Amino acid sequence: MTGRPSQSWTHGNKSLLVILVDFSDLTGAPINKNGTVEITPSLLDSVINDSGEVRNFLQNSSFGKTDLVFDSSSDVTGVLRMPNTAESYAAADATTLLHTHARAAALSAGFDVEDYDRVAVVFSNLSGLSGSKFTFGGRANVIGSNLWINGYFDFRVVGHELGHTYGLRHSNYWQVSGSLQHQCGHGYSGRRL
Ligand SMILES: [Zn+2]
Repeated sequence: MTGRPSQSWTHGNKSLLVILVDFSDLTGAPINKNGTVEITPSLLDSVINDSGEVRNFLQNSSFGKTDLVFDSSSDVTGVLRMPNTAESYAAADATTLLHTHARAAALSAGFDVEDYDRVAVVFSNLSGLSGSKFTFGGRANVIGSNLWINGYFDFRVVGHELGHTYGLRHSNYWQVSGSLQHQCGHGYSGRRL
């Protein structure tokens, strides 16, 4: 989808599904920020739903015209094993394939993936793997459903990427943080912005 998003795309309640994934060469719950903290449903809940976090931000920046619906007891998968290795996705910059595989795994696990407005695939940071092209903190489709969180599930990255799914681009208003860790890249008309 290109151009100005429709009102129905940007207004109203938007449901979010988080798909947690791991790989045969990088097993276990995704780790946040290359540290020791696992990205658990409880962490997702606090980053999204706590006061002053992502949900508040979207409510405030849209003047109440949109809201995010995320229940950490029902809108997050277990850790689902991807069919390919982490290194192969990262070296091929295969974000689209990874999202396709993650959606299929979530569907198999019983989630009505297509019923969600936004679908985020969350994994440990893959930037350090051999030949990795996953050098972003997050990536998103501009005016699209898909997000990728490359081991940085925090207010800044998640809020920023969700903004892109609503159609927001980079501007003075929507400024990328100066952090070295967040190299935002986006799927849009097949190009990276
Ligand atoms: Zn961005």
